[in-house]
Amino acid sequence: MLTHWKKLTNPDYLGAYAFDKGEEKTATIARVSREIVMGAEGKKEECTVAHFQEPGLKPLILNATNCKAISKLYGTAYIEEWAGKRVILRVQQVKAFGEVVDAVRIKPEIPPAAPAAAPAPLCADCKAQIKGFGKMPPAQVADYTTRKYGRALCSACAEKAAADQSQEEPPDTEATAPGMDEEESNE
Ligand SMILES: [Zn+2]
Repeated sequence: MLTHWKKLTNPDYLGAYAFDKGEEKTATIARVSREIVMGAEGKKEECTVAHFQEPGLKPLILNATNCKAISKLYGTAYIEEWAGKRVILRVQQVKAFGEVVDAVRIKPEIPPAAPAAAPAPLCADCKAQIKGFGKMPPAQVADYTTRKYGRALCSACAEKAAADQSQEEPPDTEATAPGMDEEESNE
């Protein structure tokens, strides 16, 4: 993979370097706070910084434009109330000091709601919510028991079903079936 020179800059904070061309990142604000940020020339500056819940997403220094964008999106100018809010980040070309540069901007659009987690499947026998078993999430337990027992079961009912199944199993009739094992029965 090639390394874009911009990826080598500003390693502590999110910047245009972290975006592919045209990429948009949906992020959930964990908190926004005032922090001392070390600038490029070693100059310390107090900045408004948004930290995100998404692992691997670096904090973003919020300039006035982005602060206004969040404030407008969610109707509150208080940074404490921005926690938990979701934003879409993208790169835009902006004019700064007579130059056109790439900058991370908040899209003026609230991201669509994250898909709700599927409700926990119910056990066909005891009607309780099926819980995960070991490393298997509930949906996988339901799927596994459906394949094995013909219905979604919780792990307790699956154990009962397994015990019932072994009792119901017909006796081993194959060996005594007429016409089988002719050679041996002839002896
Ligand atoms: Zn059950």
